[in-house]
This record gives sequence, C-alpha cells and structure tokens, in this order.
Amino acid sequence: MKKIAIMGSTGSIGTQTLDIVRHYDEFKVVGLSAGKNIDLLEKQAREFLPELVVIENKKDADTLRSHLSDTNIKVASGMEGLIELAQLESSDIFVTAIVGMIGIRPTVAAIKSGKDIALANKETLVTAGHIIMPLAKEKSVNIIPVDSEHSAIFQCLQGTPKTSPIYKIWLTASGGAFRGKKTADLVNVRAKDALVNPNWSMGNKVTIDSASLCNKGLEVIEAHWLFDVDIDQISVVLQPQSIVHSMVEFEDTAVIAQLGTPDMHVAIQYALTYPNRYYTKTERLDFLKLSSIAFEEPDTDTFRGLPLAIEAGKIGGSMPTVFNASNEAAVDKFMRGQIGFLDIYKIIEESLNHHSNIDDPSLEEILEVERLTHEFIESRW
Ligand code: NDP
Repeated sequence: MKKIAIMGSTGSIGTQTLDIVRHYDEFKVVGLSAGKNIDLLEKQAREFLPELVVIENKKDADTLRSHLSDTNIKVASGMEGLIELAQLESSDIFVTAIVGMIGIRPTVAAIKSGKDIALANKETLVTAGHIIMPLAKEKSVNIIPVDSEHSAIFQCLQGTPKTSPIYKIWLTASGGAFRGKKTADLVNVRAKDALVNPNWSMGNKVTIDSASLCNKGLEVIEAHWLFDVDIDQISVVLQPQSIVHSMVEFEDTAVIAQLGTPDMHVAIQYALTYPNRYYTKTERLDFLKLSSIAFEEPDTDTFRGLPLAIEAGKIGGSMPTVFNASNEAAVDKFMRGQIGFLDIYKIIEESLNHHSNIDDPSLEEILEVERLTHEFIESRW
C-alpha cells in the first residue's frame, strides 16, 4: 500500500489526486491540507480518514478540530502543520499541490525525511531548485513531476541512460486564453477573460499564468532544474490542441514525444504509480479522428512573460524568485481588478530591474527576497 500526504488537497491538483486515490485500493491517504476551504477539507477528511489534516489559520483549525471530534484525526495549522504533514512517518509520497512559494519549506522537510515528492508546486523548483535537487540526490528521494509538460519529458526519458545526454527539450504550450492576440487587444482584458484555458482545467493562478505565458516561463526554469539542462537547451513551442505534452530531442536527432488527451489525471496518476501505468478513466487519443497536429512559434513580443522568465532564469541566483514573487503579486492584483493584464509584465520587469541579485541564495534569503519583492510592489502599485 502506498501512503500519500497531499499538501493543497482542496485545489485543482489536490482534488484530482483524490479522484485517483478513490479508484485504487493500493493508495491510502494519511494527510491532507487546505488553505481556506474548511468545508471541503472536512468532507475529504471524513471520506479518507487521514491521520492529520492541516488548515492555514489557527481559528479554522479550532473549528475543524471541534467538527472532527468524533474521529481520531489530528488537526494542525499554519507552516508548523504543513511541516508536520511533510514529515508524517507513515507517508511514502508527498504531493505538493499547494500554490505559491509557501510550498518550499514543507517540500524541503519532506525530502529531508526521505519522502518521494510528486511535485506540482513549480514555485519550489523555480526559486529553490539549487537547494532542492542536490538535497533530493543526497537523500535518494525521487522528485516525480506532476506538471503535464514535465511529466511528459520525464516519461520520454524513461529507459534513456544518463550517458545519452539530452540535446534539446521541446516544451509545448497551449498558448492560453489570448493566443493570437496582440498587445492592443490586451489593454482592456479582465480576469474573467484570462480565466479560460482552451484545453486544461486548472486553478486560477496557473490559468492566468498560462494566458500571460508566465507559466511557460516558470516551466522552463522548472525543466532546467528537473532535467539538468541549460535554459538554452529548452525551446518553447505552441501546440494549441495540447495533445503533444512535450518532447525530448537527443544527440542523434531522434525526438521522443509524449502524447495524449489533455487531462491532468494522467500526469498525476503516473507520479503516484511510477514506474507502473494503470488504467485511467479518460478519453483516449484517436489518431484517425485527428486531422493534424499543429505547432506555432510563441509570440514573445506580446506575451513577455516567457522572455522575462528566461532572462531571470539565465541570470539565476535570486532572480527567478523575483520573477515568481512579482508575478504572484501582479496576478493577485489583476484578479482583484486593480491592474490591467499588461501591467503584469510591467510589474515583473520593474521588480527584476530593481533587484540586486544574490548568487546561490539560502532558503532564508529566498523567502526574504520574496518578502522584499512584495514590499517593493506594494510601494509602487
Ligand atoms: P489551486 O489554486 O486550485 O489550489 C491550491 C491549493 O493550495 C488549495 O488546496 C489551497 O487551499 C491551497 N493553498 C493556497 N494558499 C494556501 C496557504 N497560504 N496555506 C495553505 N494552503 C494554501 O492550485 P492548482 O491546483 O491549480 O495548482 C497547485 C500547484 O500546481 C501550483 O503550483 C500550480 O502551478 C501547479 N500546477 C497546476 C496545474 C493544474 O492543472 N492545476 C498543472 C501543473 C502545475 P484552499 O483552496 O482551501 O484555499
């Protein structure tokens, strides 16, 4: 039996992870966590009967504790609770389905405790890849990607020895809600316009990031750490149907691609069952019905999230943290209707320009840079 702890069980990745757990007897949920959604967390707790549930604030934890007093489930809160969840002695795998840099500390704690990581929380690798990857190696912990593109690359690499290095990664992108639009078309768009992904059903933050191509930028940095390739070896290509989930090109010119219908359950399930493959209840790809598979070059003049992330990723150090934190703050403002869509790029660019890079930042420095970036943005926007 594989025992699973899920950080962020009430979100898009978290609920889909639980969909998978429901189908197979060999998984047991030992821990769950949520931010604000106390009702859903209680429902999940009653269904899966984990040892521990964690909620963001203490007051909600008190409420939940009283609601669950007829069970043996322990209730904890805050960062302390997330770290306890990460280190649960009974768990084998820690699913990082939380959104934001709050995922870093618990992920580090889980790796230190020897737990395999099913990694959805890309912010962890983007900002602290230089800490996470060597630590995982030291502790012999698997970091199994959940992001569909990274899962695709991971799948393409199965069976390829390290002695056959990657020539290039082709990271595919749907192009998001605004694919084909130009800067002038984006001046007055609102959050509701951006919150429509043509192919994938995801949480709000990542859906906005898909529309701005900031998500693809974060994914380039994530792939750089996960697969130990230079940023220059990663090319982004639009694949508007989201059928080709990414590709790996080898030295001998051979390209291996992973294809399938766009459904996150497949990538999440592979992270849980790796290296095995089980039945997944989703639509199969029918090549006879598929008239074409199209590719396009991304419009990086309009969707500046991608080049800004690549620039930050190439500089390295604390710059990816500034990219991530400024994007997070900007998306939050955009969702609240306080700024326009194009202001997201302005905020990121100003923040990157304002920052003095720290090479090889410690965890504390990363979190301090995040705080200072938010402070800088608040003082100007
Ligand atoms: P959601 O917004 O749908 O869910 C986020 C989860 O994190 C929820 O359970 C939420 O709790 C919890 N959470 C948020 N803030 C806090 C906090 N301060 N303290 C404790 N818990 C918190 O996000 P997604 O599932 O879309 O994304 C999760 C991660 O996976 C992100 O890093 C994203 O980039 C990545 N990812 C997502 C994909 C997708 O298809 N959704 C695809 C690939 C990667 P609550 O809802 O209870 O407030």
